[in-house]
Parts: sequence; C-alpha cells; structure tokens
Amino acid sequence: MIEHTKEYDVIVIGGGHAGCEAAHALAKMNCQTLLITMNIDTIGHMSCNPAIGGVAKGHITKEIDALGGIMGKVADSAAIQYRRLNMSKGPAVRSSRAQCDMRKYRASMQYLMMNLENLTIKQAAVEDIKVEEKDGRPTVAGVVSKLGVLYRAKAVIITAGTFLRGLCHVGLDNFVGGRAGSKASIGLAQTLQDLNLEMGRLKTVTTPRLDGRTIDWSGLEIQPGDEKPSRFSFYHDSPMLEQVPCFITYTNQKTHDVIHQNVDRSPIFTGVINGTGARYCPSVEDKVVRFADKDRHQIFLEPQGLDTTEIYPSGLSTSLPLDVQMMMLKTIPGLERAEIMRPGYAVEYDFVNPIQLNPTLELRGVEGLYLAGQINGTSGYEEAGAQGLMAGINAALKLKHEPAFTLGRDEAYIGVMIDDLVTKGVDEPYRMFTSRAEYRLLLREDNADRRLSKYAFKYGLLGEAFEKVFEEKRKTIDHVVDALRTKMVGASKINSSFCKDHGIDSLGNGCTLAELLRRPQISFPSLIPIIEHFLPNENFAALSENLQETIEIEIKYAGYMDRQNRMVKTYKEMESHQIPDPMDYDAIKGLSNEIRHRFETVRPTTVGQASRIIGVTPAAISTLMMHLKASQSIGREDLS
Ligand SMILES: Cc1cc2nc3c(=O)[nH]c(=O)nc-3n(C[C@H](O)[C@H](O)[C@H](O)COP(=O)(O)OP(=O)(O)OC[C@H]3O[C@@H](n4cnc5c(N)ncnc54)[C@H](O)[C@@H]3O)c2cc1C
Repeated sequence: MIEHTKEYDVIVIGGGHAGCEAAHALAKMNCQTLLITMNIDTIGHMSCNPAIGGVAKGHITKEIDALGGIMGKVADSAAIQYRRLNMSKGPAVRSSRAQCDMRKYRASMQYLMMNLENLTIKQAAVEDIKVEEKDGRPTVAGVVSKLGVLYRAKAVIITAGTFLRGLCHVGLDNFVGGRAGSKASIGLAQTLQDLNLEMGRLKTVTTPRLDGRTIDWSGLEIQPGDEKPSRFSFYHDSPMLEQVPCFITYTNQKTHDVIHQNVDRSPIFTGVINGTGARYCPSVEDKVVRFADKDRHQIFLEPQGLDTTEIYPSGLSTSLPLDVQMMMLKTIPGLERAEIMRPGYAVEYDFVNPIQLNPTLELRGVEGLYLAGQINGTSGYEEAGAQGLMAGINAALKLKHEPAFTLGRDEAYIGVMIDDLVTKGVDEPYRMFTSRAEYRLLLREDNADRRLSKYAFKYGLLGEAFEKVFEEKRKTIDHVVDALRTKMVGASKINSSFCKDHGIDSLGNGCTLAELLRRPQISFPSLIPIIEHFLPNENFAALSENLQETIEIEIKYAGYMDRQNRMVKTYKEMESHQIPDPMDYDAIKGLSNEIRHRFETVRPTTVGQASRIIGVTPAAISTLMMHLKASQSIGREDLS
C-alpha cells in the first residue's frame, strides 16, 4: 500500500449531490478537504429526473440555499423552466420546481467545485475505510483506494448514493453498476458490512430517455413554465437560460394491456429484485397493476437540456425489458414512433439503516465517520444534498472542537428529515413530504432565509455581503408589517369603489391596513392603492412580488402561526431535556425489555427524540423522566 503524503482534515467519498454539498461546506469552513469520486466528469450528475425541487423538495432546496449550500444556486444557473406548485393552496405547501439543463447543471457544479479553495479533487474508487483505535474507541483514520493508496484524514464522509453493490435491471437481464454507465462499489459495501452495521437493500427505477426528434409533438398538451420565474437562491442571481415548455401525454388501455401481458418478464413482479422500492414513486408497471381501476396515467415530456434532443418522460419509470418498453411507447399518443436513446431500468443497492447515526450524521460506532445521502436510505437529490451539507458542517465543527449543529423539527424540513432518519430508521426509500412536518406553516419556502441564514453567517458559509442583503430584507419585512399593523383606516375614508370591487360591506369603526389585508378577498397587490393613499411616503408597490407574498402571508396567517408557535414551545421543552451519552438503560426500573431495546438501538439524545421512537409509550417517557430527575439530569420543575 502507498501512503499519500498529505493528511487531510476530511475526505468526502462521492461527487453526487450529498458529496458536493459536504465538500463545499467543509472547504468554506476552512477544512483541508479531499473529494474522491469514481469519475470526475460525473460530479453533479443528475442520475434520474432533470429537475430540482417539487413539493417539499423545493423547501429543502431553499433551506440548503439559506444555509449557504449550492444546490439552489446551481439549479438557477441551469434552469430551463420554473414552476411554482400548489399556488392555489395554502402557503405552507407552495413549492418551487426547476426543470434543468442536466449538462449545464453538471458543468456549473464542476466549475464551482474545481474553483474552491481548500478543496482537492481526485478520481479514484474507494475500496476500504481505515479505522484505528484511539482513546479506546474505533476512529476513522482515512480511506484506501482501489489502486492501493492510503489517504489519511481526521474524518470521512461517505456519500456513495446507489453505488453500494449496485445492480441494474432491464427486464430479466441485469448488470453490475451504481447506475447505468457506472461501476458499482463492492469493496466499500463490504467494509461497511465488516463494521457490523445493519444494512438493507433498496431499489429505485428510472424512465427510458427518448429522442425528441422522433416524438410527434403536435396535438400534445403544452405545459409552459411560470410567466415570472421565481428563482431558488436568496443570494445569487445567475443569468437566466432560455425557458422552454414541457408537454403532457397519457398512457391508455392499450399501454396497460402491453404491461399486463408482460409482467412475467418484470424483475419486480418475478422476484428477481429483492430491494424495497418507494410506494409513492412507483414504476409504470406498478401503477398499472396496483391501480387497475385507473384508465390512464399522466406522462410529462421534459427536455433534458437546451443542446440535447433527449427527453425524460416523467411517469414512465420502468424496469420492463427493452422490447416491452418499445411496445409501450407505440401505444402512447405522440410517442408512437419515439426512439429510445437509453432504456429505463431499476437499480438495486445496499443502504445503511440511519438509525445507527447520531443527529450529526456521524456513525455511533466509529468516531469521525459520517454518512450522507442515498446511502442512508433516502431518495432524491434534495434530500441527499441537505444531508451532505449537515454532515459537512458537523465534521468541520467536530474538528474545531465546537458544539454540533442540528436543526429542530420546528426550524427546517432538514431537521424533520434527519430526526426521522435517526429516530425511526428506514425500511423503504425516504423522501420528503410536507405532511412529515408538524409545524409546516412555520417552515415555508419564503421564510427559509429568515429561519436559517443566521447559521450560515455564523459558520462562515455565507459572507458579510450576504448578511447585509439579508438584514436589509429582514428590516423591510419588519417595517412593512409594522406599518400595516399600526395604520388605522377610517371606514368613511376608504374609497367606496375599492370596497365594492372587493366585496367588502363595511369596515365598522375602521380597522388597520393589516386587518383589511386579512380579509380573504384582499391580496397585498390589490391593497396597494389604499396603502398609497394612507401611507403616501411609502413605496410598497416597488417591493418584489416575493416580498409582497411573504408580507401577505405574515399578516394573513399570523393567528395560525401563533398557534403553531405555542405547539413548538411544548416540543422545545421536551427537546431541552438532554439524555446523557452513554446512558445505562438497564438501570432504569420499570422499562419493559422491548422499550429498553428501542432506546438502546436509537440512543436518543433528548427526551423529545425518545418520545418519537416508534412504539415508545407516554408511560415509558415518564419513567425515563423520573430516572433522569433522580440522577440529577433534569430539575424538579421539569416533571410538572
Ligand atoms: C435508476 C435511478 C433512479 C432514480 N430515481 C429517482 C426518483 O425517482 N426520484 C428521486 O428523487 N431520485 C431518484 N434517483 C435518485 C437520485 O439520483 C439520488 O437520490 C441522488 O442522486 C442521491 O444523491 P447522492 O449524493 O446520495 O448519490 P449519487 O448522486 O448517486 O452520488 C454518488 C457518488 O458516489 C460516488 N461513489 C460511489 N461509490 C464510490 C467509491 N467507492 N469511491 C469513490 N466514489 C464513489 C459516485 O461516483 C457518485 O459520484 C434515482 C437514481 C437512479 C440511479
């Protein structure tokens, strides 16, 4: 074995979405970082759909951006269609999505990574993790590449995605690979197994890619992007690429017949694939078999970029044999003559049950070894990126002997996700939904910067110039909200045609502008004439649409937010009761063996986390609290 001369602070394995965020955060936090990845050309590659964001995923992208991460900024540089989803619904579920030029996304990410100070990039396959005993604990010491080079580091973050023992399936044929066109990672999977980690097998499926020149676009439903695109990044404004539409078509009974006639050639239905797939992201054959009463399924035809003819037919994920994929296409309007450029396929891979991780994403059994991304059983670029960012920040903090950084369930979707992963573990691919968050009105896209950017400033992930931009925005919001809440509008003085136009009968003895805005018929833009009349020295009409929306939400939903804030108080009280580590659960009298086992498996860091473990009862929590009190960990008043 050859030993590389330089010892790094941290090594990141993998240049996918988790790896890039981790390496970027580390480099920004002045850690000497080495990113080792199998193929430098695929850094930032979008293995599946050419889009960032979507419901709840848009929230995570905004949170990454607010925390000084790069996914939002890179997506903005590559976006070819923006859409805000759920705009007719409540503000909590409004989400952004950007169709991206995949090559441009990859190029922007690679440019960014290659120009980072403190970051070295090497192409190599990591075969082994070097673990040594230090202070009586197994501690990571570096990694060994396939060519036998030992790279030493004080911490290692593994972000191997779908590559651990990756096996790709097209029908009943299969080939070893982390994704089509890539090798699998066998040695690294074995290393993790040798560490006695609980591992499992998951699967995910992708669509065939079509040649756009062979699609008959005439007669297909067009889906344009938003007229006024709203970008991901709070702080960066990259030039906008040409915006293009998507198109919609549908499967039909003939397509379903083809699938039914060929399910015996599906690796999923014949049991060739053992890995568990996501129920909420089914392949087309899954949909047709499971929802037999549905006579059609929607397919979005999404361009993969501006300088490619490749089209991603979203909704057509399949692992059926190639000839069946071709037969299916022949039945779908617009795709009758479509040529497949790359077949759809499924990939099966090993993951590590994240229940074995601390909330910092460090493995409990090995000091300094962190896992982030799809390796933890999640699915999706955004979920992966967010974990990479958090693992990167925490590895840097640990090296600096600073307190760990975790986010509460009341602070961020990222906090919800990591708490779910480490508290409940994973038995099917985990993706984010808005319904996973208890306080989702507080975790909106529009306020992600106000929730989280303070941490980016604190850790040096966003510089002073951005802090100024942030402060300016915060002050503007506070000022406008305050002005609207205090300015009284006399009933008689209100322009009667305004009231009539908006179906407002009477203002009684008058009201504040905020009370007027709270009426369901009134929006911030519609209130501008009245504001200008009563606050002639202000120029609220000049505020950006995003800011107007934020202010409107702050005012209209203030009551609901107050209610959620009261719930957060109770949650925080539970979170404030720390559980010492290590904790001797055998010493707690009155706990059943089953609950004791659950506590020992998860090793919760707070009473709040303990209460969220599946199967843990309120009685067990009260026993735990009594024990902590008796051992002086918490005060008497906490028991009330
Ligand atoms: C077939 C398929 C279907 C998918 N379907 C969906 C979907 O429907 N919805 C969805 O949201 N997401 C889907 N995805 C998942 C999406 O691609 C991932 O969630 C996301 O890319 C995970 O990011 P990551 O950073 O964890 O891993 P990846 O982006 O996979 O990156 C892993 C990186 O690790 C590197 N690597 C692995 N092992 C080693 C090693 N030993 N040494 C050095 N480098 C190594 C690889 O080269 C790669 O750079 C799909 C992916 C595939 C392949």
